[in-house]
Amino acid sequence: MDLKAIEQMVEQVLREIQSEQIVNVTEQRKEGYGLFSTIDEAIEASEKAQKKLLYTGMADRQKYVDVIRKTVLNKENLELISKLAVEETEIGCYEHKLIKNRLAAEKTPGTEDLISEAVTGDNGLTLIEYCPFGVIGAITPTTNPTETIINNSISMIAGGNTVLFSPHPRAKKVSRLLVKMLNKALIEAGAPSNLIAMVEEPSLENTEKMISNPKVRLLVATGGPSIVKKVLSSGKKAIGAGAGNPPVVVDETADIKKAAKDIVDGCSFDNNVPCIAEKEVFAVDSICDHLIQYMKDNGAYLMTGKQQIEELKALVTTEKGGPKTSFVGKSAVYIMDKFGVKVPDSVRVIIMEVPKDDLFVQEEMMMPILPIVRVSDVDTAIEYAYEAEQGNRHTAIMHSQNVEKLSKMAKVLETTIFVKNAPSFAGIGAGGEGHTTFTIAGPTGEGLTSARSFCRKRKCVLADAFSIR
Ligand code: NAD
Repeated sequence: MDLKAIEQMVEQVLREIQSEQIVNVTEQRKEGYGLFSTIDEAIEASEKAQKKLLYTGMADRQKYVDVIRKTVLNKENLELISKLAVEETEIGCYEHKLIKNRLAAEKTPGTEDLISEAVTGDNGLTLIEYCPFGVIGAITPTTNPTETIINNSISMIAGGNTVLFSPHPRAKKVSRLLVKMLNKALIEAGAPSNLIAMVEEPSLENTEKMISNPKVRLLVATGGPSIVKKVLSSGKKAIGAGAGNPPVVVDETADIKKAAKDIVDGCSFDNNVPCIAEKEVFAVDSICDHLIQYMKDNGAYLMTGKQQIEELKALVTTEKGGPKTSFVGKSAVYIMDKFGVKVPDSVRVIIMEVPKDDLFVQEEMMMPILPIVRVSDVDTAIEYAYEAEQGNRHTAIMHSQNVEKLSKMAKVLETTIFVKNAPSFAGIGAGGEGHTTFTIAGPTGEGLTSARSFCRKRKCVLADAFSIR
């Protein structure tokens, strides 16, 4: 071969390497790790990613689930998202966010949740399998911003879907960070880009666009009544995980010391923002004083005096009667400080005796102020608990050894979660059996959601063969 031909070959190879590098650089530049400037771009990318995911195997999906778990459980990442969530939303408590994020990463089921059914007979074999919807639009709350993204991402990707998040604008920074962090880890593990996506500037307008876009096949709303109503009126399949106002009943047969500690632990968890957290107590008169004393021994501060109680309530509520945003998810010490009373750091909950029609009993406040209603007997307690739960059918707690009354409360309230003789968080797998979720779908009936909740059931029939009995 002459020198000129060799030179031409070298030039050709160099050109190819160069152009490949340019393509790679452009690709890299395009890689936004799940973040998009417009909602339409995000939906487009999510749809593309879902088509790719559809043709990967179950082992790959499980690998992606494991990557999400590992990324969140990395100490540095876990601490960072927990810290930022509290800093940005000014809601909740760092130590408890660590627990909740860890719980979401460890105890959200993966692909093992998708159990296929087989029917065989003389006419052959029929399979019924859980299959993806496609692109899911998931709306997330300020109260559990990162927990919901972790939990929903695992469940939805395990189900073969991609997910487009619409976080609360007050949690946009930490949501962006987490979406980017997860996408980066997934891409490094060989997953398609944008399995998880969000628009960089979440807004009500973008959520509306997401809800109405036909490419988004399933809507999942975790939040208050307004957003749940909105997705349920969208005309497409929607899962609603709405508000709660969990009552606690304590009767004379309960282990009062344990009940007191459990109630304070559950009520103060993440400064009372979880939708499952204890929000009001109905205690039978004969044990009520003991209960209050043991609660005080466990970090409760008792407010007394009608006027003082009214002043505290006026401080933390709006004229309309709802909670002031600036007090939602704040600690008991912070609230008392704003009220002008210095209390020790060991104070976790503010308790006060009130009548059953009190605003604090009937409204979901999401702050560690726990009203206690004294009642004559357990049947009255159950009746009042039913009223205070407001028909949400979300969560209820009871401390009792009386099996008959425990069954009665379960039947009367019909809540998705009913916790007996434990703090409320046992109901989402923290100290209780069963998987966790941060999307508890009471209104639409999926209950404690997992991968299969976000799937369509499809049937595959093979006639006249493969029944091998
Ligand atoms: P929120 O209803 O104010 O907001 C939830 C999400 O919906 C946010 O992303 C918000 O931007 C969006 N949103 C609200 N109204 C909207 C509208 N009209 N149009 C478009 N988007 C809208 O609730 P929050 O304060 O963030 O969260 C606390 C509430 O969520 C409580 O009521 C709590 O009980 C509930 N919650 C329920 C569950 C559950 O699993 N059931 C879990 C967590 C929180």
